[in-house]
Amino acid sequence: MKYSQFNSIISIDNVFYLYNSFIQKFIVIDPLLKDLLESAVIEGIDGLEEIHPDFFSYLKSEGFLIPKETDEVGKIKEIVKNVDENVDSFFLTINPTMNCNFKCWYCYETHIKKSSFSDKMINKVSRFIEKTTQKPKMNYLSLAFFGGEPLLYFKRDVTPVIKKLQKECRENLVDYSISFTTNGYLIDDYFINFFKSHEITPSLQITLDGYGKKHDEVRYVTKTKGSYVEIVNNIKLLLNNGFPVRLRINYTKDNIDDAYKIADEFDDIDLKTKKEFLLIDLHRVWQDSGNEDIPNIVNKNIQYIKSKKIPVKHNSPNNVVESCYADKRNSVVINYNGDIYKCTARDFTKENRAGYLTDEGDLTWENDYLERRMDVKFKNNPCLTCRLLPICNGGCSQHAMEALEEGGRGEYCIYDGDDKLKDDVVKSKIEEIIGSLELNEA
Ligand code: SF4
Ligand code: SF4
Repeated sequence: MKYSQFNSIISIDNVFYLYNSFIQKFIVIDPLLKDLLESAVIEGIDGLEEIHPDFFSYLKSEGFLIPKETDEVGKIKEIVKNVDENVDSFFLTINPTMNCNFKCWYCYETHIKKSSFSDKMINKVSRFIEKTTQKPKMNYLSLAFFGGEPLLYFKRDVTPVIKKLQKECRENLVDYSISFTTNGYLIDDYFINFFKSHEITPSLQITLDGYGKKHDEVRYVTKTKGSYVEIVNNIKLLLNNGFPVRLRINYTKDNIDDAYKIADEFDDIDLKTKKEFLLIDLHRVWQDSGNEDIPNIVNKNIQYIKSKKIPVKHNSPNNVVESCYADKRNSVVINYNGDIYKCTARDFTKENRAGYLTDEGDLTWENDYLERRMDVKFKNNPCLTCRLLPICNGGCSQHAMEALEEGGRGEYCIYDGDDKLKDDVVKSKIEEIIGSLELNEA
């Protein structure tokens, strides 16, 4: 037997945990057994069988010790291939506009006033939907609206695409889902009723930049009119109508202190609705840095949100089994003007485009972009010996391409090879498992 490459031993509040990132399981271990295991890892794991056969066979049965011949990295490659090369599903993202009703300081996008779909573009997208749903093996189509703010021209530009998708999916027996990444300000009864009348339940990701006034300093309509109250009310409207909402809190060192108060806003939503339809997801704004106490403050926020029985997520990568849509062969982002991209986290400029949508509704990838992207994973050597490979895998194909292609920084680790940061990821995984158990019991 051998000690799995994907094991980590960490301590949380003086309790030792052995976690494996492949099986995504942990066990609590006694300090003496932890010392025994650590020395066996150095001196040869077979020795453990002689010293403590019960512990050895327990670790074996739980998957922390594995047969010597197991090709652990090979197993991850196989999963990645199955997930990312799957031809049964397609992940279509549409930017119906590059315009937005807010202007947040950290937004990486160049906003383009009056940018929106032309009738010709709606026809091209419709052709693409027809062709995709008619593919012989297709059984699931995900349609995500991004932007700009995708609800700016909802009635005129978005509803025809949704109707077309529903029609084609029904005729071709393809399952589908609809989602929006929106600032949430323009949600209204028309939006709710459109989906109710079409018997569709979309899911939404809506961002708040901190609690109350802190949010309003970033996302405002005019200098004297914020957007916090309206957005919170709109989220409640969605939840009460059974629309799942991922409430993303973009935090910085300046807004994290009282971000937890956002959870109080949902005190008047019944417990079952909160647990079923609301997820709070904390993300640090990537341009923000400093304040070493941030992890503790974030943790206090998380504990408070949990005490309100709201599911919460933070820093918890799962990049292999749940790889980003942009890692998948069957995914595309179609911009309002017909340019195509893979990733939604970079500016949608002409220079960045990966190709275009033809008049016939076909995707043309330029400069071998699709193949280059599909080929980039497992090219970063530090990942191949890393204990987090099954959940991190070098981030995403965007990270890998930018680092490893010509002009990039070369081999990399998204945690700078820092074991403490990797331990933090393990810690968040363990807390997530414990949190989901507590939530299920409550
Ligand atoms: S940066 Fe990576 S994870 Fe984020 S959207 Fe782009 S490909 Fe996906
Ligand atoms: S990026 Fe770093 S943490 Fe992630 S798999 Fe590679 S080496 Fe490990």
